[in-house]
Amino acid sequence: MVRQLADGLLAVLLAPRCLACGHPLESPLGGPVCPSCWRAVVPIPPPLCLVCGDALPSWRQVDLASACCARCRRLKPSWTVARAAGAYEGALREVIHGLKYEGRRTLAAPLGALMRTRGAEVLEGADLAVPVPLHWRRRHARGFNQAEDLARHLGLPVVRALRRVRPTRPQSGLTAAARRHNLRRAFAAPRRGWRGRRHDPRIEDACVVMVDDVSTTGATLDACAQVLLAGGAREVRALTAAKAILRRL
Ligand SMILES: [Zn+2]
Ligand SMILES: [Zn+2]
Repeated sequence: MVRQLADGLLAVLLAPRCLACGHPLESPLGGPVCPSCWRAVVPIPPPLCLVCGDALPSWRQVDLASACCARCRRLKPSWTVARAAGAYEGALREVIHGLKYEGRRTLAAPLGALMRTRGAEVLEGADLAVPVPLHWRRRHARGFNQAEDLARHLGLPVVRALRRVRPTRPQSGLTAAARRHNLRRAFAAPRRGWRGRRHDPRIEDACVVMVDDVSTTGATLDACAQVLLAGGAREVRALTAAKAILRRL
């Protein structure tokens, strides 16, 4: 009753608008994104590549034995499976922008909940969540790491087992090969050793889920997975809020 009243007052007095569609919010206390925009965040339609979760063109063109996209067949990733809550477009793209660039950190909870539901197969049997790190300078400028905020809502212990050693150029607009080159030696284990060990002992023999907001070619995730495997992780998987769909196969 009080909440309803407060909601109504806020809606009238401040008239905040939905971050994704721009329509006035009926219940601002429910968060900065309206219910119909949340409903518009749909899963990536199958068939999906069993490895990277990218959309495959059609069942007819899928090699059923592997059910995997041309990119994954050409260059097998270091992680075993990657999934996303949805495609990086429409409302989901706006929600991620709101979280990342407008500092709307409350969005991490509903977005993380969505990742938890849609990524159930990735989280099943996993031991830890490891957020993809930002370079310290970027983290400092932003004040938080959106990947870490998302990782906190997946129901797994969160371990900061990675460090971005050097800032990398933005990946957008680069070819797959250039992305990999850009990321060479970009990640490492955290500087602080664990009693002289280079890696966090918690990742040893663990099934680790890397967490990030968006993945495109998976080059960042691959660079991170290599560091985690070198540190003794038994298996590395990935879960992101969104996947940029690469229709070119
Ligand atoms: Zn909306
Ligand atoms: Zn694939």
